[in-house]
Amino acid sequence: MGDVAYLRSLLTEHPDFPKKGIVFLDIFPILRDPVAFETLITHLVHHTTSHTIPQSPSKKIDVVVGLDARGFLLGPIIALRLGAAFVPVRKKGKLPGKCAQATYEKEYGQDIFEMQADAIKPGQQVLIVDDLIATGGSAKAAGELVAKQGGKTLEYLFIIELAFLEGGKKLDAPVYSIIQAS
Ligand code: IMP
Repeated sequence: MGDVAYLRSLLTEHPDFPKKGIVFLDIFPILRDPVAFETLITHLVHHTTSHTIPQSPSKKIDVVVGLDARGFLLGPIIALRLGAAFVPVRKKGKLPGKCAQATYEKEYGQDIFEMQADAIKPGQQVLIVDDLIATGGSAKAAGELVAKQGGKTLEYLFIIELAFLEGGKKLDAPVYSIIQAS
């Protein structure tokens, strides 16, 4: 079995979680398997170094932004491997100091994401990371926070993309996902 097929085989589906009608895809079985977790991180880092920054110093990633909450499990490891900074995007009210804010649509109503106001310097090149993209609303808000601080998002990275929702169309940079789910 190839690496991507192996990662896919570990995903579990949870019907009616967290609410009725939603089939939740759980990535935690990948993290429980150290070989699979290593494969996952190496896959994403290799993609980034060979594609987003193909031997081009001008495309170097300065900052990896991880989304609350499962983006925090992937982002810091990828950042360390790329020699980049890690910056969290959190739900409103969790980060100290001055914060930039962006609103995004949830299934019912809106939510607010925040990033510390001095976290990204103008001109820095950014990778945005989360476990899954569905409608793309949360990734779009993260991209807005990067842009507000003068950063440039080069790519959005996910383990899973619910491709039929076409969330990537909302975003200001290309999407890369290891697994496309329906
Ligand atoms: P979006 O904003 O509609 O793209 O939703 C993406 C966000 O919802 C991400 O932060 C995901 O972690 C979370 N999410 C939505 N569905 C799932 C799922 O099936 N498994 C894991 N996370 C999910």
